[in-house]
Amino acid sequence: MARLENAGTGTILKKLTVVGAGWAGLSAAVHAVQQGWQVRLLEAAPHVGGRARRVMHHGLALDNGQHILIGAYRETLRLMKTVGIDTEQHLFRMPLCLRRPDDTGLQLSAWPAPWNMLAAILQAKGWAWQDKWSLTGQAFRWRLNQFQAPADMTVAALCCHLPPTVMSLLIEPLCVSALNLPPAQASARVFLRVMQDALMGGVGSSDMLIPRTDLSRLWPDAVVQWLAQQGAEVVTGSHVQHLEELLAEPVVLACPAWEAARLTAAIEPAWSAQAHDLAHTAITTVYLQAHQELDWHSPVMALHSDADAPAQFAFDKGKLTPDPGMQGVLAMVVSASTQDRQTTTEAVQRQASDQMGLRQASALLTVVEKRAAFACVPGVRRPPAVVRHPLVACGDYIDGPYPATLEGAVQSGLHAVNLLERWRLGENRV
Ligand SMILES: Cc1cc2nc3c(=O)[nH]c(=O)nc-3n(C[C@H](O)[C@H](O)[C@H](O)COP(=O)(O)OP(=O)(O)OC[C@H]3O[C@@H](n4cnc5c(N)ncnc54)[C@H](O)[C@@H]3O)c2cc1C
Repeated sequence: MARLENAGTGTILKKLTVVGAGWAGLSAAVHAVQQGWQVRLLEAAPHVGGRARRVMHHGLALDNGQHILIGAYRETLRLMKTVGIDTEQHLFRMPLCLRRPDDTGLQLSAWPAPWNMLAAILQAKGWAWQDKWSLTGQAFRWRLNQFQAPADMTVAALCCHLPPTVMSLLIEPLCVSALNLPPAQASARVFLRVMQDALMGGVGSSDMLIPRTDLSRLWPDAVVQWLAQQGAEVVTGSHVQHLEELLAEPVVLACPAWEAARLTAAIEPAWSAQAHDLAHTAITTVYLQAHQELDWHSPVMALHSDADAPAQFAFDKGKLTPDPGMQGVLAMVVSASTQDRQTTTEAVQRQASDQMGLRQASALLTVVEKRAAFACVPGVRRPPAVVRHPLVACGDYIDGPYPATLEGAVQSGLHAVNLLERWRLGENRV
């Protein structure tokens, strides 16, 4: 373990390199500084934030993809506050809303769980009594089983007794937005874990928290400022080609899976193969500019989605941000997207016209993130955080309870640093 004596004070400095400044690497850097490490953060891109960052388009601060957080993102919210972000101001909080333009779908109330869910089910428009009864019974059984499911089960199999209305208005939008996979492919175990955290995690856990600013301002930019104030070094435009020369000191590898696999191929081939074997799924965000008045009851709307109408959600950016340039800007989210940019953009424009009555809208920008999330399929094998002493890894793909999410990334950054702390203190059993 590399230690440096600070000549002036005699205090011990622990040196640490973090490779990658996405939300996992940033979380690791903040936590390490708080634990007394002297941190150097190396990022390949000219900017920090990784897969959750600002994208400028003709002076508009858009993102590489519309994100939402939920109230259960405990560590993300805590670290935002650590670096001075006012979460009330930067995030628009509202109870979970899966309402469609025709008013069908579910909207939770602000009541505590499980009453918020029960009330939403009872009040759901377009649902038969049988639908309501069936979902209530199913939710009760999930809770009774402590939200457990076999490792090899899909969400479709888990929900095979639920009627089509409940599947299309609740389970499908929740599943595709949380796991970025349709129910027929998604892991039931991870889905239930997300449901448990959101629905049983206390007041506000299931709330949607929608960024009011671009994603870089939401957290990464403030982290860089905070790290600089603490004396940490942040180097952008620094693409690490080999790890060997860094490994004289502890390293937190915070790259995405495919890059972590490349960097560890010669050092730890078994770990590298596991990271390499993960499949990924795409998310496309189509930004539209509406040329007509939008009179939505909420800044977010769920949409009926199929192969011809691929977006699952629409966000009214004008309602979320005070920037006058954002008036009429819509972010249409296509999770688990499979088609090319042009086809998707045209299909989404037709969908906005058919389902939202948006006849006058032009395409502003379409961002396709081909490797947005690892495929959270039943039985997926995710690499562990320990690569080999003194190298640990973090990122949304590292073994853990969550699918590819900001909270999964942030928690894995904290965990990686905790492992190094335990090594440092001589507890080699990690
Ligand atoms: C379009 C889209 C929508 C999403 N929506 C949501 C959502 O609504 N809610 C949610 O919770 N999550 C969402 N996610 C998932 C979330 O963004 C990711 O889980 C999270 O950003 C992953 O962070 P990370 O730090 O693990 O990885 P990354 O963000 O990929 O960070 C890795 C970093 O390492 C850097 N790097 C790579 N190689 C090197 C190298 N050799 N040397 C130095 N640096 C290197 C990269 O440039 C990058 O900055 C979405 C993702 C996308 C793409």
